[in-house]
Amino acid sequence: MSGGRINRRMLLRSAALLTPLAIATPTVSARTSTFKRLDPNSPVARSLLYVEDTREVPKDHPLASRHSPEQKCLNCAQLRGEAGETWRPCPAFAGRLVNVGGWCTIWQGR
Ligand code: SF4
Repeated sequence: MSGGRINRRMLLRSAALLTPLAIATPTVSARTSTFKRLDPNSPVARSLLYVEDTREVPKDHPLASRHSPEQKCLNCAQLRGEAGETWRPCPAFAGRLVNVGGWCTIWQGR
């Protein structure tokens, strides 16, 4: 039965082709491992009033009225990444990591 051998060969070739792909496909964690922490003093962070600690939102800032003490990155619908990590990606700040205890003006409840 040569058809059976061909199928086995095809399977082995497919497996040989897929194995490097599986190794080369990075996990979310690996993709974000090159991200740097967002600098709260950077223009983009300042424009959204990002702070690394939700308790440090300046009360006198015009955008501070959007803030309430229980809001933080950890309970924001925008937060991505792995549970348990202190610094995680957020699509509001592409390529950067935000502190799970932080906050910005586009906080969104889950
Ligand atoms: S959008 Fe949400 S997770 Fe991202 S920095 Fe603002 S509060 Fe944090």
